Amino acid sequence: MVSTRDLLIILKRISARIEENKQWLTDLDRPIGDSDHGINMARGFGEVEKKLPGLEGKDAGTVLKTVGMTLVSTVGGSAGPLYGSAFMKAGMALGDKTEISMADFLEACDQAVLAVKQRGKSDAGEKTMLDAMIPALQTMKEAEKQGEAPKIILKKGVEASWAGVEATKELIATKGRASYVGERGIGCQDPGATSFSILLEAVLNWMEDRV
Ligand code: ADP
Ligand code: MG
Repeated sequence: MVSTRDLLIILKRISARIEENKQWLTDLDRPIGDSDHGINMARGFGEVEKKLPGLEGKDAGTVLKTVGMTLVSTVGGSAGPLYGSAFMKAGMALGDKTEISMADFLEACDQAVLAVKQRGKSDAGEKTMLDAMIPALQTMKEAEKQGEAPKIILKKGVEASWAGVEATKELIATKGRASYVGERGIGCQDPGATSFSILLEAVLNWMEDRV
């Protein structure tokens, strides 16, 4: 079980990992975008971090909805509304829970994927963050069905997410700015799929360090 207090710590870790990878994410957005993904994400999660102290004692739904609204209002570009609606929908799924089980987490991830699909009018295979999110979620669901421990479930999810990132190199973007470069984007990995993998890995790392 993950408490809402843990959730705030996880969000802080996500924010730190995004900040550490700001330059890389921006560099990835150069050949197929407008060189701002890392800047966008770091700005958004920097604002999220400022809100965390005020979220002590709040339920998981309130925490994640606040994160989502903060991302929507502070992140320029398409990633803000996409990640923002993902966190908001995940928050709606968790509602007034103060303890999050693996089943709750997977349900929240399901809603997050749905939110990106709806907001982005996109699906798997379009060289977007979904190409990391969807395989990660599928893998985690399968691992849960097999009765794996939470740490293993997350580890498998992170591996699938990075494999998804690798696979975006061969895809031709049909959504977002990367679609403007079309075939010339082959060989480049998607920045949004990369930031999602960093985010999920931050959750795994928190779990691994937990005593
Ligand atoms: P912008 O493209 O507006 O500059 P960012 O650079 O912050 O915004 O984010 C780009 C990332 O957003 C892409 O790498 C991709 O993963 C994701 N993205 C863009 N459009 C869509 C979409 N329609 N559906 C899903 N993800 C998308
Ligand atoms: Mg960009």
